[in-house]
Amino acid sequence: MIKHSLKLPDTEHGYWFIINQGRVYLQDSQAVPCGSLANLPIDCSDMEICFIGEYQQQPCYLVVFDDRVSDEQNWHSARTLLPYGEAVFQLAARATQVALFLQTHRFCGQCGSTMRLVNWELATLCQKCGHRCYPRIAPCVLVAVIKDSEILLARSNRHKAGFFSILAGFVESAETLEQAAVREVKEEVGIDIKNLRYIGSQPWPFPHSLMTGFIADYAGGQIVCQPQEIAEAYWCDLADLPETPSIDTLSGQLIALAQQLKKSQ
Ligand SMILES: [Zn+2]
Repeated sequence: MIKHSLKLPDTEHGYWFIINQGRVYLQDSQAVPCGSLANLPIDCSDMEICFIGEYQQQPCYLVVFDDRVSDEQNWHSARTLLPYGEAVFQLAARATQVALFLQTHRFCGQCGSTMRLVNWELATLCQKCGHRCYPRIAPCVLVAVIKDSEILLARSNRHKAGFFSILAGFVESAETLEQAAVREVKEEVGIDIKNLRYIGSQPWPFPHSLMTGFIADYAGGQIVCQPQEIAEAYWCDLADLPETPSIDTLSGQLIALAQQLKKSQ
């Protein structure tokens, strides 16, 4: 459980996830600072501190560092920590998301009064109107659509030429994950799917998504790209993939799983 607004002694020892504007402080070796609070590489006195979990039997703390930073080279996206394993990435993701929550919920969205932190759960509460907020998590579906020995790959307008991935989209209000998967594939490329299978999920703190991964089979339709989102899409031979997301990401893992399914047929 996350514990916040901690007052810790200078001798407190642990891993320190120092967050500034959505970026994590990493040492020159790209390691998360570990040691006592007094010996941190930057002065974090008076900054908000939260307990966010444990790593290698050590407590892990988030420090919300609000000040302007001068040493730009030490501040990285949490994505930098993906190759260091799920546990470290997850802690960095949690730190980033909780920091964003604390920074963006200082005032009530309903009446504009100052919000206070609730002391027994991670939430902010308006003292005037009682409006309560929790850290926001935006679920997103990733769908690997398979047709025989091919996978449906698309390039979003945001990605460079030559880089392709599977389809992705945010879940809308009052929609199931499965409905979102069917709707997104239909809206983005005009394809109908069937046999939707849930595979797994991954926190994605850019800024607060939760990726959920599915594999589905082609059921019908011709590719027609939605121009606002998709630059190009095609059926790609699973044995001849272009540049796709790395295996550290859920998209990369779904593409690798589709390749394994093809081989085992
Ligand atoms: Zn209020």
